[in-house]
Order: sequence, then C-alpha cells, then structure tokens
Amino acid sequence: MKLLLIYAHPEPRSLNGSLKDFAIAHLKTAGHEVKVSDLYAMHWKAPIDQEDAPGYDDENPFNPALESQRVFAAGTQPADIAQEQAKLLWADAVIFQFPLWWFSMPAILKGWVERVYAYGFAYGVGEHSESHWGDRYGEGSMAGKRAMLVVTMGGWASHYSGRGVNGALDDLLFPIQHGVLFYPGFTVVPPLPIYKTGKMDAARFEQLCAAYAARLDNLFIDQPLPFRRQNAGDYDIPALTLRPHLAPGRHDLGIHAREGSEGLRQGAACTR
Ligand code: FAD
Repeated sequence: MKLLLIYAHPEPRSLNGSLKDFAIAHLKTAGHEVKVSDLYAMHWKAPIDQEDAPGYDDENPFNPALESQRVFAAGTQPADIAQEQAKLLWADAVIFQFPLWWFSMPAILKGWVERVYAYGFAYGVGEHSESHWGDRYGEGSMAGKRAMLVVTMGGWASHYSGRGVNGALDDLLFPIQHGVLFYPGFTVVPPLPIYKTGKMDAARFEQLCAAYAARLDNLFIDQPLPFRRQNAGDYDIPALTLRPHLAPGRHDLGIHAREGSEGLRQGAACTR
C-alpha cells in the first residue's frame, strides 16, 4: 500500500524523530511504499497569504478562500501546495505524527492544513444546495483513504480521561479527527496517544515502537471511529443539526458518533 507520513517536529533527535524513523523503517520492511512530509525539514511555509495566490489583484481585499479556489481551479497554485495535494491523492493512508502543543497540533502543521486543503480540493467539493451541503463529513476528495493520528504528550493518560483536568482526549482531538480528517472524506482510525513523554527510557521506547508497529500493521483493518456521515440521513438539512430522535437531549461532541457503536474512544496503548 501507499503510506504518507505527515510529520511535525523541529528536532530529528527528539522522541518524535526516533518514532518517525522507526515508523518509516517498519512500513518499508512490511513492503509498503512510503512518502514523508517532514514539515520542519522542508521549511514549510505555514501562513496562508497573498504569496499563495499568483495573479492576485490587490485592488480588492485578499480573500483567502476565494483566492485558493481561483488558483486551485486554474492550476496556478504554488508548487509546494500542489506537491502536497499530489501526495495526498497518491496515498492509501495518511499518518499525522506530532507532539501535542497547547492542546492541538504544532502551528506548522496547522499551516500545512490551511494551505494544502484548498477550496475545491478539501472543501467546496460536490453539490452545494438546500438539499445537499457539499460532499463532506464522510465524503469528499479523501474518500476511501485511511488516516491516523500519532500524538505524543507530556500529560498522563488520566489527565486526558473523561474527567481529566485537560479535557478528554477524544474531545481535544475532535477538531482534527472530525474536522480536518473526516470532513474531506478520510476514514479515521483511532489515534495512537503516547502519554507521559517526560518519563522515557530505552525499555519504554521499545514498548512504544511495538505499539506503533501493531497499529501500522492493523491500519487497514482497524475499526474506524464511528463518525456519522453528513449525507446519510442523521442530520436535518440545511440546518445540519442532528435529528432530534438521535442522542436526544445531548449536546456533547460524542453525539456525532453513531449510537450502538463503541463511540469515540481513546487509543488504549502507551498509557504508562
Ligand atoms: P523529547 O523531549 O525529544 O523526548 C522526551 C523524552 O524521551 C526525553 O526524556 C528523551 O530523552 C527521551 N527520548 C527521546 N528519544 C528517545 C529514544 N530514541 N529512546 C529513548 N528515549 C528517548 N503536553 C501536553 O500534554 N499538553 C499540551 O498541551 C502541551 N503543550 C505543549 C506546548 C509546547 C509549546 C511544548 C514545547 C510542549 C508541550 N507539551 C504539552 C509537551 C509536549 O507534548 C511533549 O514535550 C512532547 O510530546 C514530547 O515529544 P518530543 O518528541 O518533543 O520528546
């Protein structure tokens, strides 16, 4: 299979750097084709701005979405953006590996999403009408591809549990897993959370590698997160609210997972 690793850490000798190297070697040994976007090593430009819109007429206020749509449709996007889009289209599965920084992804990775996810590529896809609000949340350009987050954290598993002070990991990752990944159509498998990174030694690193290897080996067979598809009848359109008989009385993020499923769950590995 074809695997793309999107990776964000500034230090190759970091824990993340070692895990990234391990994952690449493991995937290649298993016979996969692997491409890597090492964002710091690539000196990825994070901010979306006028430079991303060749031909932009500065008589008019800069509108990032409309300019993104224009250059995507015209085939005049900057090469770095077009190359990342081509890698996404090439891949059967995409792994995003990063340290949790301020409860989310590092800024350089957020900037990758903002620039690579062009209007017409990742959003604004499909019919947009009163009865069909685009091909998204389970449909879209990334349909048929799998995605998984591998996230390292200083905090403990308990800090990210349902009653943990940091908030439940499922909730913190919701904007990434449901927004960034499910929205453009990825099938999202549970994340691999790696907690308590300050307490690391050779033995634990070996355990982490074994856990990472197992998740990579099962990437195409693991049960995905059971997010509800926007266009499968669970939402009133065009309000796009969950129909009242589903998860009645609830307003939490978990309502966007199908009932009767296991619900959203945190990956169980690496909790020590
Ligand atoms: P490193 O610091 O490189 O390594 C961690 C430990 O692993 C070190 O002891 C190192 O010696 C050891 N190690 C590295 N490589 C190996 C190897 N090959 N074999 C054995 N041991 C090894 N944490 C949270 O929980 N929530 C947050 O919101 C959060 N926000 C942050 C914001 C910022 C700006 C920063 C800088 C940190 C934040 N953290 C947060 C902590 C952060 O998530 C962790 O520091 C990070 O995940 C650790 O990953 P690393 O690759 O940087 O580890």
